[in-house]
Amino acid sequence: MNKISYTLLLAFVMITACNQTQKKQPNEEFRWQIDRFADIKIMRYQVPGWDSLSLQQKELIYDLSQAALCGRDIIFDQNYKYNLAIRRTLESIYENYRGERSGADWDNFMVYLKRVWFSNGIHHHYSMDKFLPQFSKEYFLQLVADCPDNTLPLQVNQSKDEFLGWISDIIFNPEIAPKRVCLDASKDLVTSSACNFYEGVTQKEVEEFYNSFKIPDPQRPLSLGLNSKVVKKKGKIVEIPYVADGLYGPAIQKIIYWLEKAVNVAENENQKKGLLMLIDYYRTGDLYTWDQYNILWAQDTSFVDYVNGFIEVYGDPLGRKATWESVVDFRNDEATRRTKIISQNAQWFEDHSPIDPRFKKPKVKGVSAKVITVAQLGGDCYPSTPIGINLPNADWIRKEHGSKSVTMENITYAYDQASLGTGFLEEFCYSPEEVEMAKKYGPLADNLHTDLHECLGHGSGQLLPGVSSEALKNYQSALEEARADLFALYYMMDPKMIELGLIPNLDVAKTEYIAYIRNGLMTQLTRIEPGKNIEQAHMRNRQLIAAWCYQKGLPEKVIEKKVKDGKTYVIINDYERLRSLFGQLLAEIQRIKSEGNYTAGKELVENYAVKVDQTLHKEILERYKKLNLAPYGGFINPMMKPIYENGQLVDVEISYPDDYVEQMLYYSKNYSFLPIYN
Ligand code: ZN
Repeated sequence: MNKISYTLLLAFVMITACNQTQKKQPNEEFRWQIDRFADIKIMRYQVPGWDSLSLQQKELIYDLSQAALCGRDIIFDQNYKYNLAIRRTLESIYENYRGERSGADWDNFMVYLKRVWFSNGIHHHYSMDKFLPQFSKEYFLQLVADCPDNTLPLQVNQSKDEFLGWISDIIFNPEIAPKRVCLDASKDLVTSSACNFYEGVTQKEVEEFYNSFKIPDPQRPLSLGLNSKVVKKKGKIVEIPYVADGLYGPAIQKIIYWLEKAVNVAENENQKKGLLMLIDYYRTGDLYTWDQYNILWAQDTSFVDYVNGFIEVYGDPLGRKATWESVVDFRNDEATRRTKIISQNAQWFEDHSPIDPRFKKPKVKGVSAKVITVAQLGGDCYPSTPIGINLPNADWIRKEHGSKSVTMENITYAYDQASLGTGFLEEFCYSPEEVEMAKKYGPLADNLHTDLHECLGHGSGQLLPGVSSEALKNYQSALEEARADLFALYYMMDPKMIELGLIPNLDVAKTEYIAYIRNGLMTQLTRIEPGKNIEQAHMRNRQLIAAWCYQKGLPEKVIEKKVKDGKTYVIINDYERLRSLFGQLLAEIQRIKSEGNYTAGKELVENYAVKVDQTLHKEILERYKKLNLAPYGGFINPMMKPIYENGQLVDVEISYPDDYVEQMLYYSKNYSFLPIYN
């Protein structure tokens, strides 16, 4: 998985405050969460370090950020053919309606509009289900009555009435385009998905079409179909490529315009070469050029960096077509130092790991991840954003030329800040001291855990000769995540951490331990529906670890469940002992993996990771519900303003707007380059 999502990996594990690298801003004053509707909260993020950038760096980030915004329409159209028409109609209502702009109906209209902006269309960004307005069709027709014809996206020869009948059916009829990405294998995945990558073709036709391509170099396969739509023309199946003079051309030309500006202020020759190659690719759509570009990009270690292109394929049920996205960022050197130290000491960690020596790697190489500060999000990364990215996607490039693993620390930090004051910690921590610890050490503890998990955990250990990496089958993911988590947990409390300067004291580790156990035994259950079992691999892994350690430590009460005022809490009585339990379980899971012992793996997962304590679950859900928190979050971008003196750029100022509606309307007004009907 190349995008690491906050909701999946970290929600409820990480929560908290004050991070050394970000102290410059007066955080007490800063409002992190700025809007809340449906199941969504909107936050904003800061860009610490902006002021110390050189003018050239600021200009480069500005140009790349403009390029990031120019592709906004593309993702709307890719998600569903009529998203742009719906967005335009709703925005026209917002701008022209002269009736009462308050009351339940109007509020529901605003929620719907905000949701369409958030999801880049009419399907939920996470569940992929179409969401319906909570107001009536009659009210919609009343709202749209004030809109002048020329502000509505009427199709050729269409009267306003015809248009309204057509578009209200699309919006209100649950049978039309019910799911953006359908993964139900019993159906035709192409015709039952609403996404706009295929038209007039069946799954079978698409598969046959791509199977008919000759692959010139099977060792280095091109990402066939990545940047095109597949349609049937006069009975023949053809690709319409996303290129400057093809589909999405008007937006792509604007992207190119800003990338060309970026070339002029690139940091070095390599970066310049990469940008020029990307521009070439946008002009030609040539996938060989795309691969060559990615090789350059993977090796580009410039301070300012970016992602820009048709990249991730989660939006296509066949996993072939990529949605457009962009991120602009620069390196956080202070935090990157942390991941470097960990990587450089990878062999020490492997040698001292509590597993059977037969399962240790004689030579281990840590993955060096870089920590970045995000300055702009665009396309499929906005407003809902990953917290980490690992690219490029092509396996052969990763193997032959390496990849970049990136942690977006200012985004995570904003998530943490926004979660403070929600009462979540206060509700589920046993004591005020525990809340204090979480606030003080939480961010560092979480970041370090993630670093150890990513840079070392997954790469540690080895299989015995002849053991297949697929031996654990359906339990593989949960056990692999558990192995990486346990590696991180075990070393968190090692004095080596202090010696390497990664933590100031062991309280950081203790903070991580209690947060992990609390989450694994209790708070992650807030994401499970009543009566359901745990299925998601990361969640299984967390309960597996927490429940196993609870069980094994029961005689000595290493972990203890406490009930206070009818509420259940967990506390840790013996951190040292818990650490050795983590070590024991790590050794056992490493054995299971190294030997490919499916039965033992199955037993561990089924006994500890799947079933939910129904009584406790009910209690946790009730307590959580009272907090009224939004399960999903997204961000608005900072604003960058170029400052000129006598026609010369002298600075780029950054500010942090706090109005979601305003930003969306601003983007629609200034970055709508595509025709409504493509
Ligand atoms: Zn992992």
